[in-house]
This record gives sequence, C-alpha cells and structure tokens, in this order.
Amino acid sequence: CGIVGYTGEASATPILVEGLTRMEYRGYDSAGVAVEQDGGIQVVTRKGKVAELAHTLGHFEMTGTCGIGHTRWATHGKPSEANAHPHTSCAGDIAVVHNGIIENFAELREDLIARGHVFKSETDTEVVAHLVEEAFHRMLADGSGDLRAAVAEATSQLVGAYGLAVMAEQEPGTIVVCRKDSPIVVGRGNGGSYVASDIIAMIDATRDVVVLADGQMARLRPDAIEYFDTDGNPIEPEVTHVDWDI
Ligand code: GLU
Repeated sequence: CGIVGYTGEASATPILVEGLTRMEYRGYDSAGVAVEQDGGIQVVTRKGKVAELAHTLGHFEMTGTCGIGHTRWATHGKPSEANAHPHTSCAGDIAVVHNGIIENFAELREDLIARGHVFKSETDTEVVAHLVEEAFHRMLADGSGDLRAAVAEATSQLVGAYGLAVMAEQEPGTIVVCRKDSPIVVGRGNGGSYVASDIIAMIDATRDVVVLADGQMARLRPDAIEYFDTDGNPIEPEVTHVDWDI
C-alpha cells in the first residue's frame, strides 16, 4: 500500500518512519522497515500503527544509511508480523517491499518450493524475494550481472501489478525500484536519494521527482539515481516539478 526508501548520508530509519507516517491516510494494517546494518540487512515489522513500529525501532540501534519501508494493506495472507513487508530471501540477504498483487504467485511459489526455497509468509509478495535471490545468486556466481539485472529477470516472470523496492547486502547503499500498474516516484534531495509510492512521503526532501513509467527501473545510490528502460538501457528521465503545498 505504501512504499518508502532512502539511501544517503543520514540515518535511514527516521526518514523511513516519517515517510510511512505521511502515508498513513491511505490506510494499512501493518508496517515494517529493512535497513542495512553491520554488513547485513535488519528487518523489523509490526502489526498495527506506524507509531508502534517506531516504538519498537526505538529498541534497536539502527544507524544504517540505506533502507526501505512499507505500510501493508493485506490482499494475500492475514495482517500479521510475519506477513508484513519487507520480505526477505532464504539467506536474508535480499529485502523486498511491494504494492499490488502478484496474480501468478501460487504457481511461482510451488516451483520455488520444488527448487528448495522455504517460505516464511503467506503473501504473494514473498515470491519476488525468492525469484530475485535465485537470479542474483546465479549472477554473483557467474560474475555476470547485478541487482538491477536480477530484479529485471525476476519481474519478467510476474503477472499482476507491482511497485517494488529491493535491496541486497551484496550491493550496499543501493535500492532498485520498478513498477507495473502501481505508482513509484523517485527523487534527489538533502544529500540522498528517495523513493516512494506517494509523493507526499518525500515532499520535504525534494519537489523535483521522476514518476516512473511502467517497465522503467531506477537504481538509487547515495550520490545519484540511474534510470533504465525495459531492456536495461540507461535513459534520461523526464523530471516533474511539484508545486502544490500539503
Ligand atoms: N499483495 C501484497 C500483500 O498482501 C501487497 C499489498 C499492498 O499493496 O500493501 O502483502
């Protein structure tokens, strides 16, 4: 239902919580964040309000400067801590947040289970984390690709609607985002790169945003954002200036 992400110079957690709070008006049943920490990715989820997630986060030392967050409106799987996003791969090295519905998740899940993947949630979303893991680990072993390419390969198998933000511990400081029939906006501001599914979540940081089109991808790094077309070729996107007040 709501996606936020930040990679930059500042601690990510407060920025993610602020963005999630801004999107509360959309409605949701649970919330969570994944933040880089000590060379890995730490995930914290809570059922209920963003304030409860924020309270729980107060018990963690999460100082990482790259992270993604989500408020969930359950479509597949009950509202619970286990079904809240971010979702992770088997190895826990990949984290995914998703808005929308993966219509063919049941077949994908069955195939992934047959190939040895173990699922931790009842969501349609979790297949994305496992598909990215499969592609990315193969690419790392071959030396043949990167997280962006792995996300492109994974999403080519999806039927449905998605806005996605993905991070991997092997590419620190990087968030890969893409969309189909679900909004994703990206922008630079305050010494960092931002992504959200609703501009309201990042309006304090920047008013110059790129509204991704279906099939386009972006790779956020602390000092720059790169954009790609459906075939993975770099593109120069159109920037939209937002001049309304909230
Ligand atoms: N279909 C996903 C789920 O149920 C995402 C729902 C959403 O957009 O919040 O977990």
